[in-house]
Amino acid sequence: MPKIKMTCPHCGSDDVTRDCLGRWSVERQNWEVSSELDSMQCEACDREIGSDGFDEVPVEANTRDIGLAITSFLEGRRFSIHQENEDGGTLDPVADAAIEAIDASDPDNLVLVVDGGQRFTVRVIAGAR
Ligand SMILES: [Zn+2]
Repeated sequence: MPKIKMTCPHCGSDDVTRDCLGRWSVERQNWEVSSELDSMQCEACDREIGSDGFDEVPVEANTRDIGLAITSFLEGRRFSIHQENEDGGTLDPVADAAIEAIDASDPDNLVLVVDGGQRFTVRVIAGAR
């Protein structure tokens, strides 16, 4: 699901709040939003936002989001390892491998461990800033 953010229609800030009713959850031991009220505010320009509400702006993926998306895409899949020839083409596969584990503790530098024990680092080098 692509993420969106709520922004102020006047100044564009995403430092916005909305009044909500909360209900205590005994099960989860915290307050949960049970309904959203029409009262919305921008903390940046101190405006009351009317019933038109906030602008919904898509959030471009950063390298961390891309890393996590790659992780969920690769997990549990098999892939084949190819080397390139001099022309940039691909030779026959060297090996077929299943991904045994992905270390995504640093999502910009994923470490893939394949079933042969080899480790690969996937560096996510571009994304929105
Ligand atoms: Zn504002």
